[in-house]
Amino acid sequence: MKLEVKNVTKTYKTKTAVNNFSMVLETGECVGLIGPNGAGKSTLIKVISDIINPTRGEILLDGKKISKMKKEIGYLPQYPNFYHWMTAYETLTFMGELSGLKQEELTKSIPELLSKVGLSGEENSKVGTFSGGMKQRLGIAQALLHKPSLILMDEPVSALDPIGRREVLNLIEEIKRETTILLSTHILSDAEEMCERFIIIKDGQKIEDTTLSDLLNSNSENKMIFEVAAINQQWLEVLKNLNYVKNVEIIGNKIKIQVGNIGLNKNMLLRNALDHHVDLVKFEIISDTLEEIFLKLVVGK
Ligand code: ADP
Ligand code: MG
Repeated sequence: MKLEVKNVTKTYKTKTAVNNFSMVLETGECVGLIGPNGAGKSTLIKVISDIINPTRGEILLDGKKISKMKKEIGYLPQYPNFYHWMTAYETLTFMGELSGLKQEELTKSIPELLSKVGLSGEENSKVGTFSGGMKQRLGIAQALLHKPSLILMDEPVSALDPIGRREVLNLIEEIKRETTILLSTHILSDAEEMCERFIIIKDGQKIEDTTLSDLLNSNSENKMIFEVAAINQQWLEVLKNLNYVKNVEIIGNKIKIQVGNIGLNKNMLLRNALDHHVDLVKFEIISDTLEEIFLKLVVGK
């Protein structure tokens, strides 16, 4: 599976919600689309799901236009709409029939899905009695009904209380193993928990496409802390003479080391410590927290 978003722009009357946005997503990835409210996340996800048409640009799945590949995509809207008087089973049957699935298929797949999303035993309960987390899990079951190869989830955990949030995060952890995921959130810690790759969107434009480790590395101060069982004077001398080591500071049992390029030098330094039998207790990179990086990128603080 390969999803290509090519130069997508979506304008509502005078408002450009998504502006010349491109990205590629491949099988097995779980990508977090992060941005503040109004950034264009829901619009972009609806364009990718072929719910609305882009003003310019195109979406390709395995090289074919998305309108011809809708079966490959599952979509969980930001605000799923259920009929409160239907049971969970009736809801999935209704949704399945709407998307053209056959009765025999549904009879087989609905109990499997309800079990996957932890709603076995609730099949005959009315959706109106469900908690936020249960509704969201039912929404995920609906998005998985036709066994898509890519699932798009718009803010799947943002509106949930801590318990519902945990239920849905655990479920996404499981789905991740078999389905490629693109999800949006305005809460960075949620993205951090679910995804390794992030795409940051602001005012409809892509401003970052990066991995958690790259983001941390590129925003680090190139400083590391080696906490050791005992200070090894010999190694300190070796350290000070390494050409990529810029500064060494000792604080109790901690050695604070500044290097030229944390991404390149981190492993070299760790290997060097091992070679010199340094008794390492803890290793830490000093960097901005993700929250701080995000604020800098998005708000310019
Ligand atoms: P997000 O999901 O990141 O909060 P949206 O995609 O919902 O962002 O919205 C992006 C921008 O487009 C916002 O400024 C929003 O007000 C505007 N917008 C969204 N939907 C519509 C619409 N149907 N008509 C006009 N403007 C819209
Ligand atoms: Mg939204």
